[in-house]
Amino acid sequence: MTTEPARPAPDVLAELHALREGDAPTRGGRTFAYVYDAGLAGLDELAAAAYTAYATVNGLDPTVFPSVARLENDVVGAAARLLGAPGAQGTFTSGGTESILLAVKAARDHARTVRGITAPQLVIAATAHAAFHKAAHYLGLDTVVVPVDPDTFRADAVAMAAALTDRTALVVASAPSYAHGVIDPVGEIAAAAAARGVLCHVDACIGGWLLPHLRRAGRDVPPFDLSVPGVTSLSVDLHKYGYADKGASVVLYRDAELRRHQYFAHAGWPGYPVVNPTVQGTKSGGLLAQAWAVLQHVGDDGYTALAARVAEASDRLLAGLRATEGIKILGEPAAGLVAFTVTGTTAGPPDLSLLLHLADEMRERGWYLQPQLSFDGLPPNLHLTLTPAAVGQVDALLGDLATALRAARALPPVTVDPGLAELAAGLDPGALGPEEIASVLAFAGLGSDKGLPTRMAPVLVLLDALPGPLKERLLAEFIGSVFRV
Ligand SMILES: *Cc1c(COP(=O)(O)O)cnc(C)c1O
Repeated sequence: MTTEPARPAPDVLAELHALREGDAPTRGGRTFAYVYDAGLAGLDELAAAAYTAYATVNGLDPTVFPSVARLENDVVGAAARLLGAPGAQGTFTSGGTESILLAVKAARDHARTVRGITAPQLVIAATAHAAFHKAAHYLGLDTVVVPVDPDTFRADAVAMAAALTDRTALVVASAPSYAHGVIDPVGEIAAAAAARGVLCHVDACIGGWLLPHLRRAGRDVPPFDLSVPGVTSLSVDLHKYGYADKGASVVLYRDAELRRHQYFAHAGWPGYPVVNPTVQGTKSGGLLAQAWAVLQHVGDDGYTALAARVAEASDRLLAGLRATEGIKILGEPAAGLVAFTVTGTTAGPPDLSLLLHLADEMRERGWYLQPQLSFDGLPPNLHLTLTPAAVGQVDALLGDLATALRAARALPPVTVDPGLAELAAGLDPGALGPEEIASVLAFAGLGSDKGLPTRMAPVLVLLDALPGPLKERLLAEFIGSVFRV
């Protein structure tokens, strides 16, 4: 074993800070994915101080750390008041993915014990978040994916209703969907579920803290929460439009009876009696404390003012995009999220190569817009998550977008070698050896020793052309090469 020398604390911290210089900025309104900037002075410092105060507390056992129960009841109570119905109960989790995992687990176990379903199905729209596929994968449910309306990108309530069977454990509606930011017909989907005795989850991970405050700010927001008849659970991320640091979400259930199916208790070992409401065992009290502190500090009026700023950023961005030739906004974005595609000519079909060149050109100008690939007839697009800090940046963004679009149009299109596409289509993703994987990754410009490419268009155009299972295999191999130890 080689030994590492101890390093002075300032040296360690200096290295951490230096590493951040290669990252996208998380504050300042130029990174339109992954980060949520309220633009409120002092909020980050408050969250950090609250985290620090609880960093060493173990949320595993509220009988030893009663403060954790008090904070969680406050946070879940706030979510229930905003989005719940009388009798609603819930849990604080580490994020949207965990909230969704737990809601699917509760539904699976409810289906098993109450309805005797042994091979449960999860009915979702094509636009449902990938976390539902992950949950089904982890928990052994079969997914039934229902195409969405190709013009509005909303779930098709009639088709969703028709997809329900005696095996359906849970059906999902999004408010809004991540991919296009449109709100599904929650009421119709929930009513169809209730009519068949099926549970219905509303994925309000991104919209849950924004939509009620947008309504308070005077915007039109359709009913979408647990007060809608037939909705039985809901997820809402505090680390999105709640502006808490990452690692904060809530899953709510219509009542305690349903929430019970989420819990795991185990007494069949010689250690301490185990009861885990969530996926984790030991967990820091810090994430809960920082979320609690941010909710307390911002308050309902603060969130309403922040929602109004998001709406203002969105209105101005949408107006600017509509006035830009060759850009098409997808659907009617409800709140915060905007997805648009670009066409080679004004009336032409979406042009993937041009779109990805545009994303690269914007990145060179200091903006991160998130590329989303085509799926099942739905066009590829660039996706923006708008936060209050973006308000002051919209004009600069639109200015750079116009220049970047001109620059992108002047670039030669990225194409996939037809031979490679044909070869790839014939590969069995499950049977690829390390050398074949290495050569495909190298071809895509993702050789393991080279670091990340500065322009992603060639990589993503290739990825877009590959069959789904091969795409997934390559993504896993690629990320394995990033985390190479
Ligand atoms: C973010 C998001 C999720 C997943 O949440 P994570 O916090 O990234 O785990 C699920 N659904 C929607 C609609 C989301 O926006």
